[in-house]
This record gives sequence, C-alpha cells and structure tokens, in this order.
Amino acid sequence: MSKKQTTSAEDLRRVGGMSYLNPNAPEPWASFVEQIERVKPHLGHLAKWIETMKHPKRILIVDVPIIRDDGSVAHYEGYRVQHSLSRGPGKGGVRFHPAVTLNEVMALSGWMTIKNAAVNLPFGGAKGGIRLDPRAHSQAELQRITRRYTSEIGIIIGPDKDIPAPDVGTNEQSMAWMMDTYSMNVGGTATGVVTGKPIPLGGSLGRHEATGRGVFIAAREAGKRIHLPVEGARVVVQGFGNVGGIAARIFQEHGAKVIAVQDHSATLANENGIDIHAALKHVEINGGLAGFPGASPISGDDFWLLKSDFLIPAALEGQILPERAQKISTKVVVEGANGPTTPAADDILQQRDILVVPDVLANAGGVTVSYFEWVQDFSSFFWTEEEINARLEQIMVGAFDAIWKLSEERNVSLRTATFIIACQRVLAAREQRGLYP
Ligand code: NAD
Repeated sequence: MSKKQTTSAEDLRRVGGMSYLNPNAPEPWASFVEQIERVKPHLGHLAKWIETMKHPKRILIVDVPIIRDDGSVAHYEGYRVQHSLSRGPGKGGVRFHPAVTLNEVMALSGWMTIKNAAVNLPFGGAKGGIRLDPRAHSQAELQRITRRYTSEIGIIIGPDKDIPAPDVGTNEQSMAWMMDTYSMNVGGTATGVVTGKPIPLGGSLGRHEATGRGVFIAAREAGKRIHLPVEGARVVVQGFGNVGGIAARIFQEHGAKVIAVQDHSATLANENGIDIHAALKHVEINGGLAGFPGASPISGDDFWLLKSDFLIPAALEGQILPERAQKISTKVVVEGANGPTTPAADDILQQRDILVVPDVLANAGGVTVSYFEWVQDFSSFFWTEEEINARLEQIMVGAFDAIWKLSEERNVSLRTATFIIACQRVLAAREQRGLYP
C-alpha cells in the first residue's frame, strides 16, 4: 500500500497559486516580504537590488519514499531552499514537522540570509524541511527518511555549497545520519557538510546550548539599555525544546524567575518560579511538560496575559498576531523562535512600547556556533567551551550594540535596524559580484 503524506499541488496553493513569489501569499513568506518592503526606504542606492531578496535563488522539492516498519510504502515531501548565496555558502536548519510547507521553508531561508548577514557570518541563507510528524515514526524510520532526504538534496548541499543544521524536530542524531549519508555518497568523510553534529563526529562544544545562550545574551543586552536587570525578572517561555528550555535554564541561573512555560503538551505556571532543571528532566523522561508536578496547568489564553518582564516565544512562527499583541503584558519580547510575530502585530507592540528583540538577532547564537563548528571542522582543530562561549558573547554583543545604535539613529525598531544592516551587506555583495553572465 502506498501512503502519500502530502501533495505538491496543495502546497503550491498555500503559497499563492502557481506563482510562489506572490507577495499576497499567506504567512510566513508574506511576512518576510513585508519586512523586506519596510526596509527599502533605508537602503539608499542599494534599494535597486532589493528584488533579489524576494526571489529565492534556488528551490528544490524532493520526494522522500521509505518502507515503513510495517512493510508499507510512505512518501514524504521534502524541501531545500537556498534563499541567497551572495555572501557565502547557504546555511540553515532542517525542520521535521507536520505543518512544514514550501511557503514556510522559503520564509525561514530568507530569515537565515538576514540573520547570517546581521551578525556578519560569511554565509548566505538556506533552510530545509520535511512535512511529517517525527513523534509518529520510529527511530529506524526517521533514519531512513533522513538518509533518503539527504541523498535527494545531495546535489545542492556540501561543505562549500550549503550546510544544513538541526531545527524543530531534528537533532544531533539527525545530523550524524546526514553527515554519514553525504560522506558515503562522495566517498570520504565530510564532517563540514552539516553542523550541530555529536561532538565525536566533529561537533562543537557549546553548540547544543548556543541558541538558548544567545537568546539570553540578547535579552540581557536589551534589559541593560532599558534598566531592566535579568536578576529578579519575571520570564515567560513558549516552547521548551532546544531553544526555550535552555534559555529558561540560563535565565534561572542568572537569578530570573521563570513563571510560566508552554510546550505542545501543556501550559504551566508557578508564581514562585518553576524549577527549570526539574522541568527539563521531566521533559527528557516524558517527552513533554504534561504532568510536571512543579507548576499548575493554566489555559493557553491566560498564558499570553501573564504579567512579565521578558516574554520568550521559542516554539513556532505566527504566535503573536494583532489580537494577542494587544493583550500581552510584558516589557520585552525576545524572539527565540523564527517568525513568531507578524508585521501587523509588530506595529502594535511598538505602539504599546513593548520592546521586541527580533528573531534574526535574538536567536543568531545557534548559527554563530554552527559557524565555529564549520571553521573547526575545516581546520581539524577544536576550541574549548570557554573559547567558544567567549567568541559567541563577543559576536552577539557586538551585533546587538550596532543594531541598537542604528535603531536610535534612524528611529526605527530593532527589527528594521537589523534588516537594514543585513540587507546592506547582502545587497552590497550582490552589487560587487555583479550579475552573471
Ligand atoms: P525543538 O523541537 O527542540 O522545540 C520546539 C518546542 O516547541 C518544543 O518544546 C515543542 O513542544 C514546542 N511546541 C511545538 N508546537 C507547539 C505549540 N503549538 N505550542 C506550544 N509549544 C509548541 O525546536 P527548537 O530547536 O527549540 O526550535 C524552536 C524555534 O527556534 C523554531 O522556530 C526554530 O526555527 C528556532 N530556532 C532554533 C535554533 C536551534 O539552534 N535549534 C536556532 C535558531 C532558531
């Protein structure tokens, strides 16, 4: 029996008919295009090249068939989008989630272009994904899916072409399978083809924690500028995985009180502060927050109304829409997830004087340490965790500082300032390279 999980036609409809570049397409690509439009007036002569940001360089849609454990045949639809290669090889994660669409992967690849340029890494932007529920598959099935997907996108990835990494639903094990599959296909051991690998396979110390650590650094820097110390701050975190869970832990280690957390299985609150170490242990054993005894269940709606100092969306995009933006009661939103706030909601938060540290800055810690991993793999010389964390701190603080200053000079949001700096770098490279042929 053949089980078709997805259809291309459905996907094309979601991204706006046959023209996937339609700016009226539903979120999140439309959000990305709108963010690009907003930055255009700030780009001077480089604005002439702005269309390049609205046209992903390369889109690959692949069929990923496997034999399931019960002997049936299943097909999955996978994507790899290289949004821009102007400043270097593509770089961006691979997502396994039942809601993955081409539209989403396009937007995520565009945000990677912006993020990599904003913190001045020598990468373009790319992203990949497969529409499937990893929880509904055995490890053996996930291995077959990951290997076939890697083989299918093998024609466009490589250590100097495009370097995938983990994202929602993928992890160090997925990267080990990707590295091995690519290596088998090229007849060598190509550690630099992916980042976020296990340490013995050329992974980097500090990579697992890097995104959460970067979110914390960005929040701390924002807090400093508005006289809001992390110590004693009330923190609310949506998403309790690699980004949200680790960010919550580091906040707690610095004296903040994490008063509410939410994941796919539960929404929990405790006015006295949740013991994050215990909650992480519970998730490790049970696969989700549901049933954690150290906090009380609250409704999903109440979660967004809680009074906090820092609110960290660290799950998926499209979480803060206009209606929610009107009600949120926080001082700083620090976007751990990619694309959690729509442009219309962004405007409302700005009007309400709620500071937003945008995804393309706040969660750049992960790709920054991925860059360190790639550099270490090339030189086969590995740094200590102290060196990695010190360099991460230096890059995050430097980028935050430049973006904060520009936002003050131009009187624009941190998001627009980040997009200005990034677009200037990408479009200057575009102009200097010139158009081929
Ligand atoms: P993850 O799979 O480790 O964790 C995702 C978390 O979100 C889980 O706790 C899950 O339960 C929760 N979640 C899923 N659906 C939810 C829902 N409907 N409501 C509430 N919670 C829900 O993924 P991650 O790596 O932590 O990524 C989270 C976000 O951060 C994504 O937007 C990702 O693109 C972004 N990001 C990740 C990295 C990285 O290095 N992992 C880097 C930059 C950005």
